[in-house]
Amino acid sequence: MKPLIGISCGTFRDHAWCPPSFGHRQTYVDAVLSAGGAPLLLPPVQDETTLHALYARLDGVLLAGGGDIEPKHYGAEPHPRLGLLDPLRDTAELPLARWAIADGKPLLGICRGIQVINVARGGTLYQDIPAQITTELQHNLSYERQDWTYPAHTLRIAPDSRLAQVMGLVEVTTNSLHHQAVWEVGAGLRAVAWAPDGVIEALEGTSDGFVIGVQGHPEALQAAADPRWRALFVAFVRSCAAFTGAPALAAD
Ligand code: MN
Repeated sequence: MKPLIGISCGTFRDHAWCPPSFGHRQTYVDAVLSAGGAPLLLPPVQDETTLHALYARLDGVLLAGGGDIEPKHYGAEPHPRLGLLDPLRDTAELPLARWAIADGKPLLGICRGIQVINVARGGTLYQDIPAQITTELQHNLSYERQDWTYPAHTLRIAPDSRLAQVMGLVEVTTNSLHHQAVWEVGAGLRAVAWAPDGVIEALEGTSDGFVIGVQGHPEALQAAADPRWRALFVAFVRSCAAFTGAPALAAD
């Protein structure tokens, strides 16, 4: 049985008068497929009971990229440079992250996804890197180049991290299409990769369960531009396949 992996959808309109759509870029689906998983696009269901009914059937959760999280979720006021919000996604993704971490269900966060994981665990975000961090690096360089695969900067990965273990390396290049970043790291998480300017580019859980968030977009790199990133998806899907769902409770 292939593990069932939920990919959180964003909301968008394909034109101004169109009713909102739920969906995501095909590269997320392709990355899960190529690593042997069965991808399932998850709509941002607002009712928590229904959302949990979807979540309960999954072997793993992939929190995908997208707009900014409403700052109220980490106790901050909106910065003038705050970008596009997607409140429906906040309502759905924050519980998904909390449940997955609590249950030890494998969780992979990409771009916005690393930020959701951090906020779900009480962490905070820089709302706009150019406005709040002094750096020479352009963390939206791949976006500016209109090339999702453009290698924007290197990453230094903590040698003792799960990320280093699954990637089999401690330095790698990444694309970069973000204007926000992790600030204070949430409970039960640790920073495990950094850009040359010190911006946190990966988090992982401090417990046994697979919890990894990356600030880049490896789903856009793994197929061809930089196949080294494929290892992350292979490790994630393998963990999902191994997840039994057995709760850590004493049997009666
Ligand atoms: Mn970056």
